[in-house]
Amino acid sequence: LTEALEAEAGLPCVTRDGHRVPLMLNTGLTADHARALAYGAEGVGLYRTEVQFMLAERFPSEMEQVKLYREQLSAFSPREVTMRTLDIGGDKPLPYFPIEEENPCLGWRGIRFTLDHPEVFLSQVRAMLRASEGLDNLRILLPMISSVREVEEARALIRRAWVELRQGEGLQINKPLVGAMIEVPAALFQIPALAERVDYLSVGSNDLTQYLLAVDRDNPRVARLYSGYHPAVLHALARIAADAHACRLPVSICGELAGDPAGAVLLLGMGYQNLSMNLASLPRVKAAIRRVTVAQSRELLEKALGCASTDQVVGHLGVFMSELG
Ligand code: PEP
Ligand code: MG
Repeated sequence: LTEALEAEAGLPCVTRDGHRVPLMLNTGLTADHARALAYGAEGVGLYRTEVQFMLAERFPSEMEQVKLYREQLSAFSPREVTMRTLDIGGDKPLPYFPIEEENPCLGWRGIRFTLDHPEVFLSQVRAMLRASEGLDNLRILLPMISSVREVEEARALIRRAWVELRQGEGLQINKPLVGAMIEVPAALFQIPALAERVDYLSVGSNDLTQYLLAVDRDNPRVARLYSGYHPAVLHALARIAADAHACRLPVSICGELAGDPAGAVLLLGMGYQNLSMNLASLPRVKAAIRRVTVAQSRELLEKALGCASTDQVVGHLGVFMSELG
């Protein structure tokens, strides 16, 4: 970090015209919470629980999960911690549970896997709930949602785990908020139906970009084609924010686009309520937000949405960011 960025890192994340934009942390396993708090992270927007599972040699026990989750929840309390249920498959393999598929990204991953293995889902949700005893900052996030049925099934399992722990064991646990990730294009057209079933949305722009553009996010041969600045991706993201607002449903974003200063400005223009990113991106994004007004971010967004190609969008962003200094 440059000295200037370091000095600014602890300042509030507000636009020049006074609009507050909470910045949240994306993390997994153990977070560098001291530095995250020093950078003004207002909580964890995405806790990738699969990291513990990917590093283990077998499915971690409920108590092994509790230990890790408790550390995170208490380190950030009272700030919220959004824990995503296991998102394996696709680009996130489990060494001890190989899944052989021709199209893993279109296959058995995320919520599809855990609903087919409710014992894995229940043990994880019980671990999250146990870890939250006496705290009030756990939020649960469901990955790879493509239909309302998946949300209903997942919520029924979460309710079951909650009742077992609360009534069966007498634990003092609150009901966590439950949200859905919007990262499969189908979900984009189902926001009113989802709004009746979840408490918030979080956009996964990494997978959304991959699936909208039909470009493997990890394939170097087509890496040139993979961009969150493709006009189609920007239109999709703007629509998600608009539909969520129309349904009065809180919406945030946790894909890499939020951690890019120019991307963050566009997302501000779209009306995303908070932005979640890796620790290293926080100071740079904050510096960009502090240099713009909401009106400027909307103007930039209008220009970007009017572009026909990724190159044109990137061109406008380059000019805008260099003028920002
Ligand atoms: C995403 O898809 O944008 C996301 C945040 O999740 P992951 O990168 O873990 O798939
Ligand atoms: Mg994803």
